[in-house]
Amino acid sequence: MDTETADVTGHDVTTITCVCGNTVSRDGLIQANSQGVPVYAGANASIPAELAQWPADEDLYTLCPSCGRVYRDSVIEETGTAPVAFRVDVTVSPIAEAIRAHWNLST
Ligand SMILES: [Zn+2]
Repeated sequence: MDTETADVTGHDVTTITCVCGNTVSRDGLIQANSQGVPVYAGANASIPAELAQWPADEDLYTLCPSCGRVYRDSVIEETGTAPVAFRVDVTVSPIAEAIRAHWNLST
């Protein structure tokens, strides 16, 4: 199977148009860790239990909460392309709970 690739502009992960059509301004995209679990981006606060810690190696991924496709930020920044790194099931925990917690924090 060919690797699916999202549209992206100028090596910028925030400009991804997911294979499913989702964008930052539509359903949003979430920073995640290498397991696809949304990470907590805040500093010096207690991390909600549902969210993953900011990865110490800064190896970040971008999760599409609509379809569960995950993109690796470093690949996008280096190559300007956005191949799908892997896919998670956004309807089951811990991913589902982490997505909920993420939106609770940002709204
Ligand atoms: Zn998607």
